Amino acid sequence: MKKIAVIGTGLSALSLAHHLPSLDITFFEKSWRPGGRISTRRHEDYAFDHGAHYIKEDHGIIGFNEYLEKIGATKNLNGAFCSNIQNQSSIEEKRIIVGQKGIESIPLKFHKKLRYPTEFSSHIKKIESRNHEYFIDYKNIPTPNFDSIWTIMLAFDKRLGSPFQFGYHLNQEISFLMNQNFKHEFFNEECWVVNMRAEWTKEYYNIENYVLEDYVIDKMKKFFGSSSKAIFKKSHRWRYAYSKKSLLELSNKNFIESIDHRLYALGDWCQGPSMHDAWLAGKKLAKHFSELRLQI
Ligand SMILES: Cc1cc2nc3c(=O)[nH]c(=O)nc-3n(C[C@H](O)[C@H](O)[C@H](O)COP(=O)(O)OP(=O)(O)OC[C@H]3O[C@@H](n4cnc5c(N)ncnc54)[C@H](O)[C@@H]3O)c2cc1C
Repeated sequence: MKKIAVIGTGLSALSLAHHLPSLDITFFEKSWRPGGRISTRRHEDYAFDHGAHYIKEDHGIIGFNEYLEKIGATKNLNGAFCSNIQNQSSIEEKRIIVGQKGIESIPLKFHKKLRYPTEFSSHIKKIESRNHEYFIDYKNIPTPNFDSIWTIMLAFDKRLGSPFQFGYHLNQEISFLMNQNFKHEFFNEECWVVNMRAEWTKEYYNIENYVLEDYVIDKMKKFFGSSSKAIFKKSHRWRYAYSKKSLLELSNKNFIESIDHRLYALGDWCQGPSMHDAWLAGKKLAKHFSELRLQI
């Protein structure tokens, strides 16, 4: 049986392993946990889904939502949603899929189901290859392009009085914010995750965390006309938040492949910017493997 090393335990890698027939796979993951950009941070009593927030019900990728439901990783929720807060768009009830116990339930349950050995805290620094020509069609492989964004986690002592639980475009600076209480249910303080716009992040890439946090707290309190006090604040920058254009869009490829079919690169960036794209990326590479085997 061929040995396969999968570097990373993000959703693309988990999806790849899931869609392959049972093989001799080992995961190597630089972090101490699976999931990559699907992550729940816990501080004291609070929990924040500070990377991916939710899955759309209607993304059109068959099998993804169903599988996550089957393994007990997700739950469906209704939330009050505003598509454009700045433009005062109407607030509507939106049905979304979230993690059973925080968004981290998705990679945790998924990884557990796979049962492949995993070396955590194992940062693969370099993979030797002879030269660029080692990759098929190397001249036409576009450089993936990502937006970075700042994410801020906040807990307030009192309700802010927001009429929505999540929404886009609070102002020119904040692109998205989501209340965490209706997802996690077990804490009383009001918790929010806030994402700054990519353009803003670019301009304030090196802003001090405490300056950013206080700035956002002030913006939110003013916006909601609230006297609530922030009792917890934390922020960090995601270097690779969203892929702007996928490999598929740029070059009609679903993954990057070496000429000897021994090394492959994939991620959500092959298909798009979301979790269902990561699932699809893994599925497509697994399909390629099965076709390849038929030819041998
Ligand atoms: C702030 C933010 C908000 C988002 N919101 C949503 C949302 O609401 N809905 C949605 O569908 N999607 C959302 N996304 C996108 C979603 O999180 C990603 O599409 C998806 O998680 C990408 O999975 P991946 O496996 O391709 O990559 P990753 O999750 O980045 O996985 C890569 C893995 O590889 C590991 N790794 C990397 N290099 C090495 C190395 N050298 N050695 C060992 N291990 C390594 C990393 O630690 C990581 O675990 C959001 C992303 C961000 C950042």
